[in-house]
Amino acid sequence: MTVVAIDGPVASGKSTVARRVARRLGYLYLDTGAMYRAVGLLATEAGVPLDDESAVREVAATAHLCFDGDGRLHAGDRDLSGLIRTLEMGTAASIVSTLPDVRRLLVERQRELGRGADVVMEGRDIGTNVFPDAEVKVYLSARPEVRAERRAAEFEAAGAAVDRRQVLTELRERDRRDSRREVAPLCKADDAVEVDSSGLSLEEVVDAVVAIVREKVSA
Ligand code: C5P
Repeated sequence: MTVVAIDGPVASGKSTVARRVARRLGYLYLDTGAMYRAVGLLATEAGVPLDDESAVREVAATAHLCFDGDGRLHAGDRDLSGLIRTLEMGTAASIVSTLPDVRRLLVERQRELGRGADVVMEGRDIGTNVFPDAEVKVYLSARPEVRAERRAAEFEAAGAAVDRRQVLTELRERDRRDSRREVAPLCKADDAVEVDSSGLSLEEVVDAVVAIVREKVSA
């Protein structure tokens, strides 16, 4: 069983790349950011303050998060995928993900979901914390301006009005929060291969990651 850990900052292209790599290799795809977003969404819906650790933990503990075969995230039988990909839920995720008890619960669930399968798992701490022994670790990066532009284009494609300056500001803020938090901050694992996607097309990044996986797995 092979775990491919893909980590990197916000809007580095992780989700799209990880999903395609998983499809090419026939592996399971797990988006751990979606789980933090889901907890942020469910807490917001329940009127729970996002910094109330024990209340948010309770939300996470009773959420019954799981993925279907298309990589869509469900809480029980409710499909949350269409609701969590907003700027607000990105920020909510980044706040609840600083709470140690919430992280502990979700990391446990991620290990459960990834165990015993060939899996591409993406997030911020997969190679450093969730699966430190993963066979393959990739750190996907790109310049902040490139990432903000990609994120803005995604929102526009979804029909949302976009203030590009606000997208860049929120992205830098999220980078800062993700890198500086005490528990499992975003950082490149020592044994991860870094891929800078700033000047690459999506297909080129996918090809590069698939090549890294094939090389490691055959070694
Ligand atoms: O990747 P995505 O933008 O969906 O992640 C949303 C937020 O969830 C991140 O900004 C980060 O704060 C948090 N996260 C995390 N650990 C992970 C995945 C996501 O802390 N493994």
